[in-house]
Amino acid sequence: MEQKQFQAESKKLMDMMIHSIYTHKEIFLRELISNASDAIDKLYFKSLTDDSVGMNKSDFKITLAVDKDARTLTITDNGIGMTKAEMEEHLGTIANSGSLQFKKENNLAEDNQIIGQFGVGFYSAFMVSKRVTVKSLAFGEKQAYVWQSEGVEGYTMDTCEKDTVGTEITLELLDDVAADAEGNGGENYSEFLDQYRIQSLVKRYSDYIRFPICMDMTKS
Ligand code: ADP
Ligand code: MG
Repeated sequence: MEQKQFQAESKKLMDMMIHSIYTHKEIFLRELISNASDAIDKLYFKSLTDDSVGMNKSDFKITLAVDKDARTLTITDNGIGMTKAEMEEHLGTIANSGSLQFKKENNLAEDNQIIGQFGVGFYSAFMVSKRVTVKSLAFGEKQAYVWQSEGVEGYTMDTCEKDTVGTEITLELLDDVAADAEGNGGENYSEFLDQYRIQSLVKRYSDYIRFPICMDMTKS
């Protein structure tokens, strides 16, 4: 197993995410669904010119699965997947994060509004997760890889078993935090294990997605 550090900038962004945009923490779901949809778009477009893909438009979908006992939410897509190098490049750095780039170019101080408005990307998963596990098999590859991180300290990578092309992202949700006597400071992460809460978030933030988003509640 390989162990790597995040780049300094990634650490900074992650720290910002984790500490300053709690109010919009539910947008992680929009970000992960939009990444899944982008990945499906890529494989779908490939399928139009490459018969070896062997998929029809109606085969593509995004699945959300909840395991209440394990406190996990899993987002699965059958899109193009990531190679080992792609996982390292795209999940291990935030070099081309739209929101950070924008802040830099415009000399903006850390601003909750800005981060909330622009695509915050994959790292937003850490606003609600104690650990994030990404398993992916890239189209055209035989070996799948697993990427795992608990946040700022870095990540590990290893080979894993995965038979189908695409990506599976499992979030181990943070523990709920009780509010103080005045009712301040509480945090509820268990809401992301609730089918109806998830459905309403999907409706609110991901209505424009052109592929089916299915809920798999069998494990709860
Ligand atoms: P952005 O979507 O703006 O590029 P993100 O932080 O959301 O930034 O994602 C970073 C990159 O990680 C994506 O551009 C993509 O290359 C890769 N990625 C993330 N999620 C997936 C996924 N489900 N399937 C394939 N690649 C992904
Ligand atoms: Mg994205």
